[in-house]
Amino acid sequence: MSELRDQLITTARAMQPAGLNRGTAGNVSVRCNTGFYITPTGMPYDTLVADDIPLMALDGSHQGRRKPSSEWRFHRDLYAARPEFGAVLHAHSPFAVSLACLRRDIPPFHYMIARFGGDTIRCADYAIFGSQELSTAALQVMAGRRACLLANHGLLVAGRDLVEALALAIEFEDLCEQYWRACAIDRPVLLSADDMAAVIKKFSDYGQQ
Ligand SMILES: [Zn+2]
Repeated sequence: MSELRDQLITTARAMQPAGLNRGTAGNVSVRCNTGFYITPTGMPYDTLVADDIPLMALDGSHQGRRKPSSEWRFHRDLYAARPEFGAVLHAHSPFAVSLACLRRDIPPFHYMIARFGGDTIRCADYAIFGSQELSTAALQVMAGRRACLLANHGLLVAGRDLVEALALAIEFEDLCEQYWRACAIDRPVLLSADDMAAVIKKFSDYGQQ
């Protein structure tokens, strides 16, 4: 399964040029037959090789020469609870972190909010990094959604594969920047519940083509 681990490393390395990450703060994982592969704790992505990538089972045990990211719990819990997800990505990207520090849901200021499954992107309650409490809070606000903010921490997204998870994370960070810019000028005009329901329906119709 070295191919999957190589794809994981490629995705992790793409986070920094995409503006999602500096240093080793984020983490990314991909589902496999027996659990999931996840980036290891505290290693710069540019030095990673496939053998550095730990394999985790859904019971939280791991194999490999490196320890998994300390934030493995929300990855594990998303794979256990949401069979539609094949990849999970977490980042401390600057605009998402800024909004997460306000502990507010991102409202429907732009129709692309619907890409994440609803008419807002919710912010999970604060809990210390790596804790079960944080994972539980994140899964709660991701019900029916593919992304959330983590209070005073960062962003979390999940997609069907690594390509989609990375694309969603970039879109999410862009939306956070756009919302911040709009709020810096004045209070943005929000789309109505009917407007957003129509967008969500249109996205789901595209998905069925
Ligand atoms: Zn984090």
